[in-house]
Amino acid sequence: MSVRMRHTRSHTRNRRSHHALELPRVSVCPKCQAPHVRHQMCTQCGTYRGREVVDVMKEVTRQTERKKRKARASGVEEKKEETASEKLDATALSNK
Ligand SMILES: [Zn+2]
Repeated sequence: MSVRMRHTRSHTRNRRSHHALELPRVSVCPKCQAPHVRHQMCTQCGTYRGREVVDVMKEVTRQTERKKRKARASGVEEKKEETASEKLDATALSNK
């Protein structure tokens, strides 16, 4: 390895003085007083700068329906797996 430029503890600490993580900038929603990320809509009431951007209730119902659909799909898959395992068990038993 090549010899690098001289660095002191002071240089190292000076460099690392900018490495601290910052919390995201948060402001208060004027409509519902909930904290929200700056320059983004409020996730509680779906407004941005006093204007409604997203119908939150609609979005929530959509997400719950999606979850239900997913759960149903996974349940069907599980049942299929169960039937497959049962079939395997049956064949194993017949082999015995
Ligand atoms: Zn709000």
